[in-house]
Amino acid sequence: MNKRGHVLNALLLAVGVGFVLEPAVDRNTAIKIAQVTVPIVLGALFPDVDTAFGKHRKTLHSLTVLGIVAAYPIVFDNLQYVWVGVLTHYVLDLVGSRRGIALFHPLSSSEFSLPFGVTTSSDYADLVTVIITALEIAAFWAVHTYVVDLNVDVATVSQAIGV
Ligand SMILES: [Zn+2]
Repeated sequence: MNKRGHVLNALLLAVGVGFVLEPAVDRNTAIKIAQVTVPIVLGALFPDVDTAFGKHRKTLHSLTVLGIVAAYPIVFDNLQYVWVGVLTHYVLDLVGSRRGIALFHPLSSSEFSLPFGVTTSSDYADLVTVIITALEIAAFWAVHTYVVDLNVDVATVSQAIGV
């Protein structure tokens, strides 16, 4: 997937995440969307830094990197929601191209891909991106509702690590 696709995906996803976390559709929803948009867009752009540093689709396209980014809010109380952007970048790379990504880098350089994929040059690329985003918002809602509260504010994080 190209930069345009990743940014489009991240922007739509941020709006969806904002509504999931503040479903009342009021001032708080707008604030929540503002809070999550920049971190998610930055997260979505980050993995492709490995086109310049490291090996593309390997160095920064792994579960290791996702784990590190996801640990920051818990350990350092910053970079909240950047993991959402990194994760959606992986999903889009998996679905939005025929080439895979090295999920287990640096343990293994093998690239994993899905048996189907829509190339970025396809006329349907934007449509596929929108559909994927809708499914991601649904997944985020399901996890937030049934698994773990993803509406982590600073106070909650501080409490969780006991400082
Ligand atoms: Zn990528």
